[in-house]
Amino acid sequence: MNYSQLFTNSIEQLIKEDRFREFIDISRICGAFPHAINNKNGDKIIVWCSNDYLGMGQNSVAIEATIKTIKSYGVGAGGTRNISGTNHEIVKLEEKLSQIHHKEKALTFSSGYIANDTTIQALAKIIPDLIIFSDAKNHASIISGIKNSKAQRHIFRHNDLNHLEELLAQYSTAQNKLIICESVYSMDGDFGKIKEIVNLAKKYRALTYVDEVHGVGIYGKNGGGFCQEIGAEKDIDIIQGTLGKAFGVIGGYIAGKTEVIEAIRLSASGFIFSTALPPMIASAALANISHLEKSEAERKELHRKVKLLKNLLEISGIEILQNNSHIISIRIGCATKAKKISAQLLKDHKIYVQHINYPTVAKGDERLRITVTPLHDEKMIDDLVTALKKVILEESRN
Ligand code: PLP
Repeated sequence: MNYSQLFTNSIEQLIKEDRFREFIDISRICGAFPHAINNKNGDKIIVWCSNDYLGMGQNSVAIEATIKTIKSYGVGAGGTRNISGTNHEIVKLEEKLSQIHHKEKALTFSSGYIANDTTIQALAKIIPDLIIFSDAKNHASIISGIKNSKAQRHIFRHNDLNHLEELLAQYSTAQNKLIICESVYSMDGDFGKIKEIVNLAKKYRALTYVDEVHGVGIYGKNGGGFCQEIGAEKDIDIIQGTLGKAFGVIGGYIAGKTEVIEAIRLSASGFIFSTALPPMIASAALANISHLEKSEAERKELHRKVKLLKNLLEISGIEILQNNSHIISIRIGCATKAKKISAQLLKDHKIYVQHINYPTVAKGDERLRITVTPLHDEKMIDDLVTALKKVILEESRN
């Protein structure tokens, strides 16, 4: 067996399908977000595809908290919590997370991906004969958790409540069920039908699990997410979120009732056997979450800028996916074209918009996904629209 050849074949296949992913080497500049340096050529670029949705990754309160914690405790966590105990910064962070979601308890993980993957597996261990109902557009980490759980599962068509009900109705109310959906779908930017799903969950006696990764920090009065904004937070059994996007750091978490979170803490392999978040990260996240809990300025400014950019794109004849969220998607429908447009924007206009290809989106659904933040000014927004118009038009002529 020529193992080397197998790896080469795999890469060549991706190149052939225009799915080879090149990560551009950038340096974010502290205090100057959304500016960054493209290390390939030294260009100063503007980042339009960061999930640091509110620019909190460079917020001075988080930076100061991080430095203070490093000076007090050093850089690492020292091991898994199971073996080495829980650093007090995590205790404080988990208290804050439970507060912003109005839940009894929260538990942190090394990422949002791990939070989904390991929690879903743990739920299937804890709840006998669990049947999982999962939205077709749920994130890869949810899919992984469901597959790894080996639980019986049904995938309902995206946001299709009739289909979900049809699937739920096959089982008696005595059977254990879990419905999993997202609050904001990250690629199309549409909202999950949370209230309707809650109603079905009550009718068929199912638990509810909502991935709020793209909602926390951005929606809700305390930045508690979309479920909070629509008044559905109390009806969700498990809220899952990330510290890595609007909260600007890294890590994932779940929040819910004490017994739910405790049982998961004691069963979830990806929690038990993995090193905890370092205290400095916990402090940075705590500082940002506490800031966003009180301050609505960042959220308001984000939504103002989103509206402005969407309007300008529409006026310019650039079609965007219709949604009411902060995610702006321009469907290109061809991997090669999407890649070329992205490269052209970077080269000629110093604008970084990552093209999104399969398997992140379906084949034929390739797109540009744009994220404006409170820190993009109006000139940057105008320049982006002008550049997009030019490059997309040029590409359509080819
Ligand atoms: N859930 C959704 C919907 C996501 O989009 C992502 C990441 O993009 C995750 C979970 C994973 O979160 P994290 O980046 O914190 O691992």
